[in-house]
Amino acid sequence: MIQIKHVNKSFGSVQVLKNIDLEVQKSHVFALIGPSGAGKSTLIRSINALESIQTGEIIVDGISVHDKKTNINQLRSDIGFVFQSFNLYPHLTAVENVAIAPVQVKKVPKDQAEEKAKKLLTSLGLGEKFGSYPSQLSGGQQQRVAIARALAMDPKVMLFDEPTSALDPEMIKEVLDAMRSLAATGMTMVVVTHEMGFAREICNQIVFMADGAIVEVAPPEQFFTHPKTERAKDFLSKVL
Ligand code: ATP
Ligand code: MG
Repeated sequence: MIQIKHVNKSFGSVQVLKNIDLEVQKSHVFALIGPSGAGKSTLIRSINALESIQTGEIIVDGISVHDKKTNINQLRSDIGFVFQSFNLYPHLTAVENVAIAPVQVKKVPKDQAEEKAKKLLTSLGLGEKFGSYPSQLSGGQQQRVAIARALAMDPKVMLFDEPTSALDPEMIKEVLDAMRSLAATGMTMVVVTHEMGFAREICNQIVFMADGAIVEVAPPEQFFTHPKTERAKDFLSKVL
């Protein structure tokens, strides 16, 4: 579903992605982990063209992401992205936040988009919060609205960059539970996370990055019990 081939990227003279190769199969969930500055955000952002790349290619469902001929709006509809900060529209209700992109980008009739928004919000445990504004919602609720907003576009892939890092501990679980349910529906997901429990339980593969390179790719059991590299052992000794 996602093919990353020989991707290199520099910011000025600093190379932040070094010859990245990775393939994410349909319905698989990949965790992207590694120390701060490893290039995790840069890599995941480049999958939906929030970052340019200098060489290499990224293909999502057959579409070459950085090809000048690619329709960026279509691409962003197909690739849902959930950030650490929820970035909801403060002046719109939960339902309106979820419905706005289908209405504006896909020209779905408003009542139809809102109907679907309500279904999505209900499935994410927000059935009581249709009319609430972001300021009236907890961080965990806002993040679930953000997930619903991405799902409203019927994406083929969902990307998450530290979706629980801005949340109080008691709200982390509700967001991880929502992501676990989404994974169970067969959604293809790439998740940058510091939640090692989630990575271990839910993900098919762990991708460990350091210094702009992929150091190890392994199934969770193997990665967490028998990391192959010193770099991964060192990282795990600090986070586990
Ligand atoms: P963290 O765990 O702290 O979020 P990360 O693995 O997501 O780290 P990135 O944000 O991808 O790391 O950053 C990788 C490197 O690229 C870092 O050295 C960072 O300073 C640099 N970098 C990121 N964005 C930019 C930018 N817009 N301009 C210049 N350098 C950048
Ligand atoms: Mg980051």
